[in-house]
Amino acid sequence: MDKALTRAGTQREDLHAMIVALRARMLLDLELKRTIPAFFLKKGTSVKKKHIPSPKGPPVEFIDQPGIKLADVRAALGDCRRCSLCDTRTNIVFGEGNAHAGLVFVGEAPGADEDSQGRPFVGKAGQLLTRIIVAMGLQRQDVYICNILKCRPPENRNPRPEEIAACEPFLIRQLQAIRPKVICALGTFSAHTLLKTEVPISALRGRFESYQGIPLMPTYHPAYLLRNPGAKRQVWEDVQQIMKAL
Ligand code: URA
Repeated sequence: MDKALTRAGTQREDLHAMIVALRARMLLDLELKRTIPAFFLKKGTSVKKKHIPSPKGPPVEFIDQPGIKLADVRAALGDCRRCSLCDTRTNIVFGEGNAHAGLVFVGEAPGADEDSQGRPFVGKAGQLLTRIIVAMGLQRQDVYICNILKCRPPENRNPRPEEIAACEPFLIRQLQAIRPKVICALGTFSAHTLLKTEVPISALRGRFESYQGIPLMPTYHPAYLLRNPGAKRQVWEDVQQIMKAL
């Protein structure tokens, strides 16, 4: 009986988190002037109807929205409590680097070091990423580094769909604000979230895809390279393509 009640409670919490995340996505869609079913909107919210190209058609032009600034995005994120990761995080890890970077790296989520310092990619995997950036002839401060999730999942577990859905609007806005020439998606969760695909990273890597018209190179996550040093050669091939594109 107790177990059944606990399960029902957990399911209710999961459902609530999903509704919150879905609403965040819907409001973002509204901002991007996509059409939204009216029942998702609060009373009195106006909706501009506009033709939306199919996913295979030309990119929706939100990347070209003028004027949005990283500082505005950070302010909008605030002391975020949009998903349950806020209860276990130490710091929000928003992202750091050049606000006008030609290249943005998007990782998965902060780990323990990032959570304690409030900075992305500062642990072991981060040090490897820094070495990759330097090998490209750049410095960390030349690029922008951020993650799909801004808060650390407990025990570094995989991001959950409702967490990604709650956090992704802020990543989208970060990319709007920076408008990089190239995006590098580090690892499975980053590539899958940005490209809306479930194709394995091993099949995705090594070829430019398009994210809203911006060339996006999926490659292996530095943490994967720490466990599989043999894959460094493939990442080096991928970053050489990025260097050419830049
Ligand atoms: N792994 C990530 O994906 N991001 C970080 O910031 C650190 C480790």
